[in-house]
Amino acid sequence: MREEYLDYRLQSSVLATLDSSYSGGEGVREILEKVNEQGIITEYRLLDEKKLIKKFMSQVYSDQGLAVYGIHDVLKMLKSGIVDTLIITDEIAYMHLEIKCNKCGNTQEKFVERINLINVKKEEFSKSCSKCGSDDIEIREKDIVDLLEELSASSGTKMEVISSKTEEGAQLMSLGNIGALLRFKPSH
Ligand SMILES: [Zn+2]
Repeated sequence: MREEYLDYRLQSSVLATLDSSYSGGEGVREILEKVNEQGIITEYRLLDEKKLIKKFMSQVYSDQGLAVYGIHDVLKMLKSGIVDTLIITDEIAYMHLEIKCNKCGNTQEKFVERINLINVKKEEFSKSCSKCGSDDIEIREKDIVDLLEELSASSGTKMEVISSKTEEGAQLMSLGNIGALLRFKPSH
């Protein structure tokens, strides 16, 4: 690096220059320790996250229609298989509820914030089925992150979890902690 022997095409990939006191495997281990101690990868990771959110926000403000946000819109796009990159913050705290009538099979989906989970479940259990009137209601709950992972895996979607601590992360937080970049504009 210092004597500029490194190929110019590789220069832009250099994250940091560190000294090692050993050669071979021991030197590599020493460098990896220093990388961890100095938080170099973390910084690099944050830079990646910022770039991704910038790309996402510019799509939100453009008229190309390649970005959606909010749990309902993102889920809809994810299920139709056109999400390229799914972005959530580490603050996302929704639960997915599947409310099923055991008598007629009528099923409803609902997303609730974790903090409201107990109240919403109580409320749903107190209702009777809107189709057949039965009180035999069953509720299955799943963490939204697990659901998103399953849906992403089945549609070849990249899923990125970003920190909410950066300015960019806070932007996504204000859009409901979830956004998606689409492969193409959906036909309405
Ligand atoms: Zn029913």
